[in-house]
Order: sequence, then C-alpha cells, then structure tokens
Amino acid sequence: MLPSKPVRPLYISQITPQPVESQGAPAEAMAGKVGPDFVTVGRCKGRGGVEGVESVERAPRSMALLGSVHARLSQRARARTLFRISAPVFVCLLVFTRLEWSWGRRAHEMINAHAVENLPEPLRSYFRERAGYLVEHSSDPDQLVADDPSERPHHFTDADADDTYPFPRLEQRFVRERRAPTAAERRNGDVIWQIETYTLRLSRDFKIKRWGVANQDAVFVAHYAADLTQPLHTVINYDGQLTHQAGIHARFETELVNALGDELKLAPHPASDVSELRSRIFQELVASYCARLAVFDADRRAVAGRSYLDPGFFPAFEKFAAPVADERMSAAVSFVSSLWYTAWVRAGRPPLPPPSKEEK
Ligand SMILES: [Zn+2]
Repeated sequence: MLPSKPVRPLYISQITPQPVESQGAPAEAMAGKVGPDFVTVGRCKGRGGVEGVESVERAPRSMALLGSVHARLSQRARARTLFRISAPVFVCLLVFTRLEWSWGRRAHEMINAHAVENLPEPLRSYFRERAGYLVEHSSDPDQLVADDPSERPHHFTDADADDTYPFPRLEQRFVRERRAPTAAERRNGDVIWQIETYTLRLSRDFKIKRWGVANQDAVFVAHYAADLTQPLHTVINYDGQLTHQAGIHARFETELVNALGDELKLAPHPASDVSELRSRIFQELVASYCARLAVFDADRRAVAGRSYLDPGFFPAFEKFAAPVADERMSAAVSFVSSLWYTAWVRAGRPPLPPPSKEEK
C-alpha cells in the first residue's frame, strides 16, 4: 500500500567530503585546470550539455546574517525568504548528512501532469482519467525511504563515482552486457536499473490488464525517470560539497522550481516508443550529467561577489538557472511519457478500459 501524505526531506547516510582529485574526476578534467579556485568538471556535448571543458569556480564560504522579513510577501518573495531563513540550517546539516533528494514535490507533480498531456491517443485519455492519482502520488517513492533504507539508492546514479565521462565501463555493463548492478553500483545509485524494472512491470500490468497496479507502477516509472533527469542525481558532487556550493541541490530542484512555478514553459519532445530501453536510459543519464555544468555555473555566477543570503543572490540564481531547469524538466516530461507509452506498446497495445471497467 502506498502512502498518500506529502513527502518530507529524509536524512540518510553520512558522507565525508573528499578532495576533488580523489573523487574520480573526468580524465580530461584531471589533465586540465585544477587549482585552489577552480575544479574542472568535464566535457559534454549535445542537448543539455555544454561544449568544451568548463570550470566551476569555487564559491565563497561566507554566510551573512539574516535580513529582515517583510510583512507582505509575494509568492516568489516568500520562496526567497524561506530560502534565506532555511539556508544556514540546511547547510549545517549537509556537513554531516546526505539528503534523500528528488526533484521537489512541485516539480514531480508538474512533470507527471505534463507527461499525461504529452502522450498520444488513446493512452492520453487513459492517463487523463488517472491524472489526479499520478500527480498526487508523484513523490510516493521518496516516502518509502523512511521505512526501507534499501530504497535510498534507487533515486540516483552517480555516474562519475567509479567511471569517467562518457562512462564506457558503465555503458558496457549496463547497455551492452545488460548486467544487474553490483554491490558497488548499488551504493553509487541504481536508478537506471529501477527505471527499466518498473517500465517492464508497467508493461506487464497492461498486458494482463492489472489496471490498479498499473497506476502504482506508472507512478514509480515516472518518479525514477524524473529523478534521473535532475543533473545533481548523476554526480558525486551532488550538493556542491566539493566546490563550496553546499545547498545547491535544494536550491535548484526545490527552491528554484517553487519560485518559478508556472513561469516554467516546458517544451517536451513528443512521447515516442523506445526500442532499446537500456540505451535510452543511459542516454538520459549522460545528458543529465552534462547539464550539471549549467547548474553549477548558474550558482557560481549568482553568488559571485555576495553571500548566499544576500537579497540579490536568489533573483540572480533564478535568472541564470531557469533555462536549465526548463530544459531538464522538459526532458523529464518527454522521458516519462515515452516510458509510459513504451510500456503500452510492448504490451501489444491492448485495448484500454473505460473508468467504470477498471479492476481495483
Ligand atoms: Zn526520488
């Protein structure tokens, strides 16, 4: 039975930040500029990526005291103020803990709602009947972590933990050899395997007309797939802890999305049938990994010359990071809807029932 209460952040395994040079930085990065003020972060091309080798300048560590809280605040101003109030506590916690992150609740809701509308018929009408469930339960998988620690690594794959871009070893094992994850790979996060597992489960649900279970499995497909599109779910520097940008994870996936809300104009590619499932999942992993550069860079530019609590930081971060949030969430919508569609196609495109004929 799935929980229905809203997700709250869950504090999980401890982590001790290590020197960047020992964290499996890309080979081309290690040959590039690595100094006290810069951490070279790789070479990526294509959608969501950035051409050429780029560097993430280390952000200042200083924290200023909180400013005054205004009596009347717009939604965006409240989001900014909440960010300023919560940031010091959040950053302190990050010294000792790793959060079980996903896209924030609002992002998961938006992704699922848009994914329904991104489907071709007749699947769109079928999922529209269930859109309320799919949106309401979009963050259910995060809640499972509280009861089951083994759920934790299902939400990320740190591609650069034991491999370097473009991750030939992981591609060989995951795509070509179609292996199950090793213990080490599970520790680095096995979301790429989870996406395949739940897509195949959903396909099976469609095939044997198990419509109620299909609703639940569609939620899990969507959640894990969306998590993979969040660039900071693909890197060991998942919270900027290696580049003095602690707290960037929540700043990007929760605070930014909450502040932008409907200003995000998602433009996903239409849903398509995925013939090579593992290849498509790996492609999304690499695209997401490459987009990390834009996230780190937006944060670095926004904090340049000021602290994270400066009133000017968050508006600047919004300006610089909004395009990558838009692109990544659009990618999520396309990915999620394509996986739902693929599950149905692989099931043989079975006739879909009207709501009154559903098996609960
Ligand atoms: Zn998650």
